[in-house]
Amino acid sequence: MNRFADVILPLPLYRYFTYRVPEEMQGHLRQGHRVVVSFGRSKFYTAIVVALHDSEPQGYEVKEIATLLDDEPIVLRPQLKFWEWIAEYYLCSVGDVYKAALPSGLKLESETSLTINADFEEEADDRLTEREAVLMQALSAQGRLTVHELEKATGLRNTLPVLRRLVEREAIFVSERLRANYKPKTEVCVRLTFGQGDNDALRNAFDMVRRAKQQETLLLSFLDLSHFMQAGCYTEVSRAALLARAGVSPAVLAGLVNKGIMETYKREVSRFAPVQRACTPMPVLSGEQTRAYNEIFATLHDKSVTLLHGVTSSGKTEIYIHVIDAILKQGRQVLYLVPEIALTTQLTERLQKVFGDKLLIYHSRFSDNERVELWQKLLRSREPRVVLGVRSSVFLPFHNLGFVIVDEEHETSYKQYDPAPRYHARNAAIVLAQMYGAKVLLGSATPAVESYYNALSGKYGLVELHTRYANNPLPEVRIVDMREQRRKRLVKGNFSEPLLDQIRGALKREEQVILFQNRRGFAPMVECRECAWIPKCTQCDVSLTYHKRDNRLVCHYCGYSCEVPRICPACLQPTIEVRGFGTERIEEDVETLFPEVPLARMDMDTTRSRNAYQEIIDDFAAGKSKILIGTQMVTKGLDFDRVSIVGILSADSMLSFPDFRAHERAFQMMAQVAGRSGRGKSRGVVLLQTSQPELPLISQVINHDYVGMYNDQLSQREQFGYPPFTRLIYIYLKHRDEAVLDTLSQRYATMLRKVFGERVLGPDNPPVARIQSLYIRKIMLKVEVTASMAQVKELLRQIYERSLMDDSFKSLTLYYDVDPM
Ligand code: ADP
Ligand code: ZN
Ligand code: ZN
Repeated sequence: MNRFADVILPLPLYRYFTYRVPEEMQGHLRQGHRVVVSFGRSKFYTAIVVALHDSEPQGYEVKEIATLLDDEPIVLRPQLKFWEWIAEYYLCSVGDVYKAALPSGLKLESETSLTINADFEEEADDRLTEREAVLMQALSAQGRLTVHELEKATGLRNTLPVLRRLVEREAIFVSERLRANYKPKTEVCVRLTFGQGDNDALRNAFDMVRRAKQQETLLLSFLDLSHFMQAGCYTEVSRAALLARAGVSPAVLAGLVNKGIMETYKREVSRFAPVQRACTPMPVLSGEQTRAYNEIFATLHDKSVTLLHGVTSSGKTEIYIHVIDAILKQGRQVLYLVPEIALTTQLTERLQKVFGDKLLIYHSRFSDNERVELWQKLLRSREPRVVLGVRSSVFLPFHNLGFVIVDEEHETSYKQYDPAPRYHARNAAIVLAQMYGAKVLLGSATPAVESYYNALSGKYGLVELHTRYANNPLPEVRIVDMREQRRKRLVKGNFSEPLLDQIRGALKREEQVILFQNRRGFAPMVECRECAWIPKCTQCDVSLTYHKRDNRLVCHYCGYSCEVPRICPACLQPTIEVRGFGTERIEEDVETLFPEVPLARMDMDTTRSRNAYQEIIDDFAAGKSKILIGTQMVTKGLDFDRVSIVGILSADSMLSFPDFRAHERAFQMMAQVAGRSGRGKSRGVVLLQTSQPELPLISQVINHDYVGMYNDQLSQREQFGYPPFTRLIYIYLKHRDEAVLDTLSQRYATMLRKVFGERVLGPDNPPVARIQSLYIRKIMLKVEVTASMAQVKELLRQIYERSLMDDSFKSLTLYYDVDPM
């Protein structure tokens, strides 16, 4: 008899809570089921069952589970194990992990806000029940309500199960900002009334529209969009896409329908990808690539992780495609992690062509409904599938995971900063894979120092590709000494003479240019020429960024903004000046220097909407814009044939960043952006502007010398005791009152030192020492890599609990960041 259930609540609580299982649920209830429970003062939450047992907890009154939400468990056993590992290793609660793992639509609670779907139509065979109708009415009258408010408004109780069904039918939405991007589930499509290869019917159709020019255009557009003439490669065509392509009105389509040539129908659309049948054969691997492919499987024979280190354009993606194919053929599932999906549309298309509907995509800009749909799809099917996803796709419910690929494994966006769990998706994926008995392939042209170290020390397998596909040459990197350029007064705006020459040449040859600047905005800061006053955010301890477009100063942490003062508030002189440069400033320089040339800028500010990124890329790929200016975004997996010049505007700003990984990152960014140049037979040129050409790192970039960079960085890490020679844990302390915080963090550090001794450093002011009115201090803990995290966690927990014996510590917020980036 299992009369009790331990559950995970979506709250930052460090333990499971036990509830009584009502008689009618006994025997049904299983691990991974969602149940509704009350917690605290009459609040309801969706909780996850982790264990069933028969030992009654002592010391408090055990409440009963209110409702069981599922027929089948919604979280699988390996996932629960994975959640526990994350909580253990990253020093957070399982509730935090649960909150991050499940889409909101799957974890309704009293505070969840809901809105109605105005487009919802009842189906004849699936009418709303009376309770459902009452809830719908209240919602449509009120616009937006929380579950709690909705229950008050309708007088109904225990509505979560009913609401769950309404969410699943998309009658209501769990509200969120991305609502505007919601796509309907069905769309109207167009097809011909005859089949592919029926040439008589096709000829007949053309005869019938000979006198109707617009109808003929529509028919031709259809043939083009649907690939009707290419045997076996037929694509469904939506009415909207067809009318847009043909540039005609719906009346023209109606004409063709009346003539019996075309018909319309509704189709279910998966929101993840346009349904497309696989229609491109896999690429044939070159000799080098075949060797690498075989080595990958050979090394994975006795290792669980292999690192594929291949220069840009060596064909890593083509190799991944072959690996995926092999795993799918074994009937297993593949997780293909990428740093940011908005940046990989070219990749998505490539995969879709090969894998068709076996490919599922987990987009970083998905709405919650889309997340729920993908979750359910994976839960219900054991089919071999490949999921292309961002960081959080490690939380998806795989039944049958056989392989994980982590592309661009060095990318820092794999690490979640805020909120908890502060996990690293690459490292977490390696643990996830172990739980499924799956293998892992990490890939990069510029691996993280830690990963390369693991590969050289034999923990991971190592496979290398030293040449580009088809022996295309690596780009030539040329240094521009900015000190000399300035002395000779050859600098215009932020451009040196050689860089301008190269751009002019490229434009004359009808080629394209990418300009890389590691900061967005117009200029990183505004400064007083006289007294060096710098405007800072009133909420956060960061200097404000100048935005030219609206002549304002903006805080990139909290969004605070204000006008640029004309008089310096410190020395009261009219000596405020804009200094330095960001992408917006580069854009202005280019507009002045090349007034006739169409250009595009790509950074966080220009790519906020879901499609903006795609439009910028498409325009550049089509040659509509000639110069592309961008931040890190342009360093990622883009592939343009006509780019012959890449300009790196300032290596210095990357090198001066106060972080032990600054040089590694600068190398990675420069190597990746350089890799965008000359992707074909012709050798691309990269111009690297710097005031410190003598730095070893600069020669390493010129010589494509990853190993040289690695050796330098590794010896520094060893000397100063940084990863991979130690494990770092940052302990963050936050408080409203700075003086109190200083005292408390000093005392906390002392308590830590009693246990961890020399391993404790700080407290320090982090680079951003105040966010949204809370002051922040950071204590750094360097522990041996061999130390058990369970033991470290236990010690930290004891110290924290001891601190709470003093009431003043109770007002402090404390959290950990393990393996910070
Ligand atoms: P990486 O991922 O290493 O940067 P890609 O896989 O994107 O390299 O390959 C770079 C370019 O070379 C792409 O345009 C790709 O289509 C082409 N390419 C690589 N390998 C092959 C192959 N075996 N057959 C045809 N084209 C290839
Ligand atoms: Zn701020
Ligand atoms: Zn001043």
